[in-house]
Amino acid sequence: MNKDEMIWDLSQLVESTDPTSIQKKLESMVAEAEKTRDKYHGKIGGLDAKGLLELLEMKDTFILKFEGVTMYCHLMYSADSTDDVAKQFNDAVRRASMRVGQALAFIDIELGKLLAENPSLVTDSVLAEYKHYLERILRRVPHMLSETEERLIIVKDKNGISAWQMLQSDWLSTRTFDIEIEGETKTLPYGEIIGLYQSPNRDLRKRSNQVVYENLGKDEIVWASAIRVVCEDHLQMSKLRKYPTPMTQSLIANDIGQKTVDSLMDTIEKNVGLYQRYLRLKAKLMGLDKLANYDVVAPLPNAPEMDYAWRKARREVVDAYMGFDEEVGGWVDEMFEKRHLDGEVRKGKSSGAFCAGWLAGKSAYVLQSFNRRMGDVYTQAHELGHAIHAYLGSRAQKPSNLEIGSCIAETGSIFGELLLTERLLSKAKTKEEKQAILASVLDGFGMAAFQVSARVFFEQSMYDAIERGEFLDGETVAKLWVTARDKIYGDSVDWLKVMKWEWTMKPHYYMANYRFYNYPYVFAQLFVFALHQLYREQGESFVPKLKRVLAAGSSKSPRELGAELGFDITDKKFWEKGMKQAEEFIDMLEENL
Ligand SMILES: [Zn+2]
Repeated sequence: MNKDEMIWDLSQLVESTDPTSIQKKLESMVAEAEKTRDKYHGKIGGLDAKGLLELLEMKDTFILKFEGVTMYCHLMYSADSTDDVAKQFNDAVRRASMRVGQALAFIDIELGKLLAENPSLVTDSVLAEYKHYLERILRRVPHMLSETEERLIIVKDKNGISAWQMLQSDWLSTRTFDIEIEGETKTLPYGEIIGLYQSPNRDLRKRSNQVVYENLGKDEIVWASAIRVVCEDHLQMSKLRKYPTPMTQSLIANDIGQKTVDSLMDTIEKNVGLYQRYLRLKAKLMGLDKLANYDVVAPLPNAPEMDYAWRKARREVVDAYMGFDEEVGGWVDEMFEKRHLDGEVRKGKSSGAFCAGWLAGKSAYVLQSFNRRMGDVYTQAHELGHAIHAYLGSRAQKPSNLEIGSCIAETGSIFGELLLTERLLSKAKTKEEKQAILASVLDGFGMAAFQVSARVFFEQSMYDAIERGEFLDGETVAKLWVTARDKIYGDSVDWLKVMKWEWTMKPHYYMANYRFYNYPYVFAQLFVFALHQLYREQGESFVPKLKRVLAAGSSKSPRELGAELGFDITDKKFWEKGMKQAEEFIDMLEENL
């Protein structure tokens, strides 16, 4: 195999890869943004529908014009952060983007004011293509404070709640943990020791959990202080911004309504028994009476070693998508053919995986570190699902309509994983292979739908406790966490005592102005499981429906997208479809015990 097959070709993003030409292009990007500012600053308030259309179209043209060069710089750096040219580009693009951001910051503020004074613009037929984009801005307007207040908030956050977040993250990243591995005591940083949670060695999994959470618990006073002020700050800010509940800010950001989240979370609560049934089955597969917390997502002991060469993985993934739709499968193949994937494992490459949509090129780029394991093939299918979302979206929408929120952003990717699951299951020869595939799908589902739901309940319970006037010290917060967790797991899992400190390490609880970040994961998981169930029921006639949903980007709300499929996502019936899909997988696993 030609080694270049696994390395992406970024040169397609720019007219020339010559560093001087890249630099020039970045400079012209800043100059054009500043020209726009000079033309429109202070004048947006006076625009009529036609004038506003011109502004929005100009903004979209600007994005498409400079997307290639900014992507080129970013992707080069994520491909090799030790490369000197990449470092230079990364720094240059960061500075240029900051200047563009500063030059164009007035647009959002002035646009908000314009819409607040002329809400009828939102429904003006001239602006039809931007309708939902404008609706979303209008929804935020009543909660905006004056310019001076907003500036003050940025200043106080910088040394206030943002500092707590930094403390939590610095604390975690500088801790080390001593653990004995094969007779030798090793001192590992947090990022490394958590890798042992997935070890096939059960005792090692247990000891790594024990040592991490025992040590985190010792600093409970730090974690509790941090989480307490972050929550209290959010409650105060919610009142100032006139959010009716602590969740409102997040609902607006995710473009959904309270009723949808309530239906979703009710469905989760109603179905905890289903998840617990899976956990009991998994215990059986692992030869245990009951799972301990360190077994919940552990690999099955008798999982067969599967080896996937790059080309074999490509074939599986392309065929999985091809079986769904030839156009979609063709695009997935094109991603490989045009070398838009970077799978090579090398030093300096950013860890994890991502897909960056390339709207101007009506395509995408994907990065992953491909280690020939089944999990890597799943990652590939997942990221290529994002790519398909970009292929369809960029053909149908302007960039303003492709700001896709977290609830919908994972639709193509998780659906792609399920297509791969079907394909792998149909080809699996042994019971053990089938078990390994189903367990990996159900582990993922269980984490995203149920484990994450515990965090949603936990976060809500902290705000409720504060409202009741309770003081959140470490033990109180731990109690709230254990209550939320047990609501999901019941008695299906044995927990190490120290797991009551599990909440201490989740960075997002400490993030400034980023509350209720969890339920979109639950939404996304169950949404796609429901869609897959519809696909099973409707067969081929479902294909164009899913393609329409993906092509809609953010031009429609999740509720409108659900309606396109014939469902009301505020109704539990829709979410039950997702559970039905999970139940089918669990049944299949039971048949293959
Ligand atoms: Zn994803």
